[in-house]
This record gives sequence, C-alpha cells and structure tokens, in this order.
Amino acid sequence: MAELTNDFTWSKSRHEKFKECRRAYWYAYYGSWGGWEAPSGSPVRELYVLKKLSSRWQWAGSLVHEAIRQLLLRARRGGGLRPLEEVLARTRERARGQWSGSRDKSYWRESAPAYGLVEHEYAEPVPDEEWKRIWDEVVEGSLRAFYGSEVLDRIRRVPVARWLTVDELDHWIFEGTKIWVAVDFAYVESDGRVTLLDWKTGKERGVDHTQLAIYALYAREKWNVGPEQVVGGLVYLGAAGAPRVDVAAGADALDACRAVMRASIGGMKELLDDPAANRGSIGRFPQLEDPAACRRCPFRRPCGRL
Ligand code: SF4
Repeated sequence: MAELTNDFTWSKSRHEKFKECRRAYWYAYYGSWGGWEAPSGSPVRELYVLKKLSSRWQWAGSLVHEAIRQLLLRARRGGGLRPLEEVLARTRERARGQWSGSRDKSYWRESAPAYGLVEHEYAEPVPDEEWKRIWDEVVEGSLRAFYGSEVLDRIRRVPVARWLTVDELDHWIFEGTKIWVAVDFAYVESDGRVTLLDWKTGKERGVDHTQLAIYALYAREKWNVGPEQVVGGLVYLGAAGAPRVDVAAGADALDACRAVMRASIGGMKELLDDPAANRGSIGRFPQLEDPAACRRCPFRRPCGRL
C-alpha cells in the first residue's frame, strides 16, 4: 500500500476551524497526523483522539444527519421510508450506545476511536435535563419536523432514478486544491434543474449560504450544471415544519464563494513553513489571546488552557 502523506486539501469545516483558532487548526490538521497508529499515551495519539471529540450540539446534529442519511439510502435501495417511530427508536438506541461509550471514555481504548463527547472528556457538569432537552428538542424535534415537512413530501414524489446523492463524501479540484464536500441531498427536478439541500439543526448563519455555494460549485464539476440550473435550499430542522430557505446560486454568489475559498486557502498556506510539502510548525499557529474563548475546545489540556 502506498504511504499516506498529509497532503493539503480544503473543506468548509477546515475553513471554520482555521477561523476559530489557528492553534486548534494546527492540532487538528498537523499535530494529530499519524495518530491512528501512534502508541497510546503519545502526544500525537492524544491530539488524534481529542480532535475527534464533539460537543453535545455537534453530536445531536450528527445523530439527525445520520438518521436522515440512513432513511434516504434505504429508500433509494427500494426499501421505502421507515415510519418515524421506527427511526426515532433506532436513533435513540444509537444515541444511548454512543453516550454511554463516551461516558466510559472508550474512545481512548479503541484503535479507531469510538464516539466521544468533549463534555465527558473534561468532566463538564451537564445536568440530566440538558441531555434530555438536547434529545427532545434537537434530535427528536428535528426528525419530527423533517417528517412533517414539505421538503420530505417533495422528496417522496421524486423518483429515485432522479436522486443524485445522499450525503456521500466526494471531492473536486479548485485551482489546484482538492476540495472535500458531502452534499446532504441532491436530485434532478422534472425540468432538468438540480436541487441541492443542506440539513441544518442550528439557527440560520451567514456561512450556511457559503455551504450552498460550495455545493453549487461541486454540482458544476460533478454533474455539469451551470448556476442557472441549480436551486439551493437550506432546511432548518429546528423550526416547526422544517422550513426551506432558498439560496441564490447565481454567478455572483459563486464568484463570491470562490473568493472566500481562495483567500482561505491562501491564508492557510501562508502560515506553513513549507507549503509545497504541507509542513507547518506549531509556533506559527498562535493560540487565542483570550483564554475565556477556549472553554469548549477539545484541545484545552495539551494547549495548557484547562
Ligand atoms: S485551547 Fe484555546 S488557544 Fe488552545 S487550541 Fe483550543 S481554542 Fe485554541
């Protein structure tokens, strides 16, 4: 097997980590590299395990995404849409398994780390009512909203032969850089336009629009569709009825997105010691100035910000 190399690639999550904190970005993309085979107790292994931890809000979002992904994949295989109560029961079972594995910190023992929560790693006091609220409002609430939504009604009416993707990780090349993307759901309308959907369990943010523009750039490469043929929709599952907010994916929006990506890639490479080899040293990636902003970071122990 060819040796794995830490090649420079870009994704929206990498961009967000870079904006949040340069040091956390370095830990996640450089300091933890190779941690999957590093010995237990080594600094590299620690960073590798920590970078995989999620906050409870990220965890809730991933449970919802996975439930919808599995639901749609099964439907695409001809198995039909599972009833909501069955989806909730399966998701609850998955959530319980992940939560108790995380509470026992099993993610330190597995060779491929199991699910882990930042709250358990750092023994953050989270009342039982808060865990229940996360389940009721975010996970169950989102799945109920999805089942009652016009978006799902529409999906039910689109023949699976016109479904393009269900949350599959893929990439394309932008100005020489590999860009990772996983479109939550895409299908072809009867008039030939392509609808790209992104599930959101949080509140509306400006960066959500960038996500749709990235999807549209990918659609152009993957399915050869121009901006005028693309319809982008953000589906806010946390709101009653899971409303869909349509997002312009016209030429101006795509140019703006390209500019964001270009600047982001340039900023990341600028800090490297050797951009061609994708090598960077920790000292060039500063910590946040205000330690108060570190209180939810998974790297706060190795970073000395406990
Ligand atoms: S603890 Fe703070 S400074 Fe350190 S990586 Fe995390 S956010 Fe950045």
